[in-house]
Amino acid sequence: MTQQRLDAFCGLYCGACLIYQCTQNGDLAQAAAAFGRPEEGLACDGCRSSRVTLACGDCWYRDCPTGKGYSSCADCPEMPCAALRDLRTRRPHLAELVDNLQALRADGSARWCADQAKRWTCPSCGKPTWWYETTCSKCGAVTPTGFPPPERH
Ligand SMILES: [Zn+2]
Repeated sequence: MTQQRLDAFCGLYCGACLIYQCTQNGDLAQAAAAFGRPEEGLACDGCRSSRVTLACGDCWYRDCPTGKGYSSCADCPEMPCAALRDLRTRRPHLAELVDNLQALRADGSARWCADQAKRWTCPSCGKPTWWYETTCSKCGAVTPTGFPPPERH
């Protein structure tokens, strides 16, 4: 399987998404349980792949930069536009989108993704961690990059 770029068009790091991680581990049941969703349609190989999870498959934030011919919002002179500033307020892991895009613009995709891969790794056991993992599910160590879980609706 060819490695997809894991920087989403909007500046999210797909590698820190539980759905992406569970898809790659062949353990979609874990993600389905975590989000209270059926497994059907949940699988995802990242925003830039041909298999994108339901919630991300019909995403305005993918269509906008691709429609303008940009490889991500980082290439857009309007970044951070009003739509991105709004997206940033919706969930804790989206709050840093503009910072991510500015770092992507400065560092380029390959370097930024390598930095993110390190950032979203348990410092104790090396397991990949995801946005809302505040203690490692494998070894129990504190994972300092995890956000406190958002309220469930
Ligand atoms: Zn660990």
